[in-house]
Amino acid sequence: MQNYELLVERIAKSSGLEKDEVERKVEAKKAKLSGLISKEGAAQIIAAELGINFEDQELKVSELMAGMRKVNIVGKIINLFPVREFSKNGREGKVANFVLADETGSTRCVLWDMNHIALIENEEIKLGDVVEIRSASTRDSEIHVSGFSEFKKSGTVMEEVKSTPSASEVTLEEIKQGQNIKARGVVCQVFQPRFYNVCTECNKKVVKGEDDVFKCAEHGIVTPKKKAILNFVIDDGTEAVRTVMFSEQIKALIPEEDLQDEVKAAAFRDDLIGTEIYLIGRVNRNQLFNNLEIVANNVEKINVEELIESLNKTDSQ
Ligand SMILES: [Zn+2]
Repeated sequence: MQNYELLVERIAKSSGLEKDEVERKVEAKKAKLSGLISKEGAAQIIAAELGINFEDQELKVSELMAGMRKVNIVGKIINLFPVREFSKNGREGKVANFVLADETGSTRCVLWDMNHIALIENEEIKLGDVVEIRSASTRDSEIHVSGFSEFKKSGTVMEEVKSTPSASEVTLEEIKQGQNIKARGVVCQVFQPRFYNVCTECNKKVVKGEDDVFKCAEHGIVTPKKKAILNFVIDDGTEAVRTVMFSEQIKALIPEEDLQDEVKAAAFRDDLIGTEIYLIGRVNRNQLFNNLEIVANNVEKINVEELIESLNKTDSQ
């Protein structure tokens, strides 16, 4: 709710409308969309319709959304990870990660610029410091600070901050049944894909009858097509959790029919193991094993090289 009120306040300020009026517009939009959208979502649409651009304003953590390009934010470093070195395609680099918090929530922040990283390495900026970030961009709800961004110590005093992630980014040891979560971890095990048969008309599961033919309840005798299910284990350092991927998510990583080719499937599995990913999904209790598993909605590989390149590109425009 807090997020919604902030949003309404911002829209009112930028548009010159009264807050009441903004809220009426939001309610009307929500009603028009048959309530299929949250109040926050409706407010975002109203903002867009009014031509309000939140970029270049100073934002709160709870207001961050994926794909923002000019994020200005002030927050406290509440968790600082060791600077990591990477070497990829003959290129050496460093990356620094910390968790930034303000009174609305916390989010991960990634530094890519050597000068910024040096501030952390030299302990000019330390755990507990309040920092100011300008012209950063976001990926999911993470803040990415590139060489075109500013990163410095802030004079702002921040006593109380909220350490809970604003998006439901969680560590895997915290997950609970029914939660929609976002996690970041490394794929440490990939199982053999399994296949089941579906009707080519309605995509519903079909089984072979006694007479050796596949029957769909709706479409009768059909020649089915195969759909894949892929299980893997993601580990974020706190816990390893089994994850299930269905067609839609698999297709984003590999053409589904390639999984039926033993050689291609094996190469895909080899490639996926050890890869760092963002995982968005829902926590389910697996009835068979009686443990928690994640049903993936979105699996995205984290490609360090690509990330740097796209950051440089968006920022130099
Ligand atoms: Zn059917």
